[in-house]
Amino acid sequence: MFLTPWEEYVLNKDLPRMQYLCQCADRMIAEFVYNYNYSAPIPKIYIDASDSFYPCSAPDGKIILPHGFFQWLENLVESLPDQITPEIKKKNAGLMMMFWVVAHEYSHLARSHFELKKVRPDLYDACEYDADMCATEGLFRHTQHILDSRKSGVTTINNKIYLLVSVFFYLRPLIDRDKLEYEKHHKPFHIRLWWILEKLAWIDNFDPVTAQPTEAFVSEIKILMDALYSAEKAYIKHNQIENSLFIDLFVRFADTVKPYADEISKKWQEAAPFVKQFQLIKIST
Ligand SMILES: [Zn+2]
Repeated sequence: MFLTPWEEYVLNKDLPRMQYLCQCADRMIAEFVYNYNYSAPIPKIYIDASDSFYPCSAPDGKIILPHGFFQWLENLVESLPDQITPEIKKKNAGLMMMFWVVAHEYSHLARSHFELKKVRPDLYDACEYDADMCATEGLFRHTQHILDSRKSGVTTINNKIYLLVSVFFYLRPLIDRDKLEYEKHHKPFHIRLWWILEKLAWIDNFDPVTAQPTEAFVSEIKILMDALYSAEKAYIKHNQIENSLFIDLFVRFADTVKPYADEISKKWQEAAPFVKQFQLIKIST
C-alpha cells in the first residue's frame, strides 16, 4: 500500500471535493484532540491510491482513506434521493458520512485499541463498539458546534437524526453489496444502528444526580426510531427493493438486541480497564 499525506495527494490532481472533505476532517480531528486530550501522536489522514473503499487506521497514528472510498462516497451520495428524509438533503449527507468514518478510525487510535488488541485479541468486538460510541458522541458535539456557530437554528434532535440517518445511508449499501462479508467483521447492521441510536438519545438526556435518563430520552428514542424506519422505507423505494431486510428487525429492536447487548457489555467490562491504563500512559508521555 502506497500512502501519501492528503495535502500532497490533492496537490497536483484536480480533486477539490477530496481536498474539502479532508480539510473538514482535519478540523474535526483537531477539535477531538483538544476536547478529549487523549491522543499522541495526533492522527493524520493519508490517501492510499487504490480502488479499495474500506478505510482503516494504523498503530502509528495514520487514518488511511483509499481513493476508492471517495469515489464510493460520491457515487453513494449521487444515488440518494434528493431529499433523503424530511430533514436531510443529500448534499449534506456526504460530509457527515466522511466525518463518521474518520471519527470511527480516530477513536480506534485515540482509545488505544491497537494496544488492547495486542494483549487481548478476543476483545476485538468491544473495540468496535467503543469506536462507534466515541465517534457518535464526538461527531454529534462537533456538528452541533458548527451548527451553533452558524446560528443555523437546527435543533439538537434534528442534528441527531442527521447523524443517524447519514450513518444508515453509508452502511446500508454495504449490506446490500455483501451482507456476509460485512458481518464477518462487524456486529449485524441493525444492532450497530441501535447502539448508535441509543447513544444519541443518551446525549444531554442523562441526569447525573439520579444516574437515570430524563423523560426526553424516551421521546428521543421514539423519534430516532421513526427516522430510521423512514430512512429504510426511502432506501427500498429508491432502489426498487420489494422486501425490506430491516423494517421488521427495527420494530423488534428490544428482543433482537438483548443477547448482543449482554455479550458486548461483558466484553467491555473486561476491556475498559486496559483502555484506561493505556490512556494514562499516552497522556503522560
Ligand atoms: Zn473499526
